[in-house]
Amino acid sequence: MIRAALYLAVVILALAGGAKEASAQQSQLLEAAISDAVDRFERALPSLAPTEFGVDVTAYRDALTLQRFSSGVWSGDVKVAVQVQGEATNSCDRFAAFARVPPQNGVVPLVICPRFFTPGADELRELTILHEMVHVVAGTNECQAMAFAARVQHAATGRFTPVDGYWRASGCESSQYRLP
Ligand SMILES: [Zn+2]
Repeated sequence: MIRAALYLAVVILALAGGAKEASAQQSQLLEAAISDAVDRFERALPSLAPTEFGVDVTAYRDALTLQRFSSGVWSGDVKVAVQVQGEATNSCDRFAAFARVPPQNGVVPLVICPRFFTPGADELRELTILHEMVHVVAGTNECQAMAFAARVQHAATGRFTPVDGYWRASGCESSQYRLP
């Protein structure tokens, strides 16, 4: 399997340009990934506390399922604008996807990069959505995003995608966050 670390994105604050219309196939893969992530999350939900690793679970659910949420981290109502970027430039050279926070005018762009559509990466696509949505609602902490996504996967299925390399590389062993 392709190493998960390649697919996890960090949130960056720089602007990404080069937005292009997604192909029909890309739209289909993206919709499937979001749908898989929603299914996974809904299965995990009965086991989740109202707040997990500092993530407001209701805000997260709204962001994931409705692409809008009310945040205690950001002030007021926020919309998630999912955008497919056609070229691997402006952070898409490094990431499969990234969220641009804090919100500007009540909108957080969730930019989907070409690498997201790598053939055979279905499970990583789902993980990427689960991971990025933490950044959308809670901010830029990598350890928090990895821990929350793994918590959701584990609560839903009893297992989670290994992220050990990225966990260590991000210094998460000494963080307040934990993998299942
Ligand atoms: Zn991240």
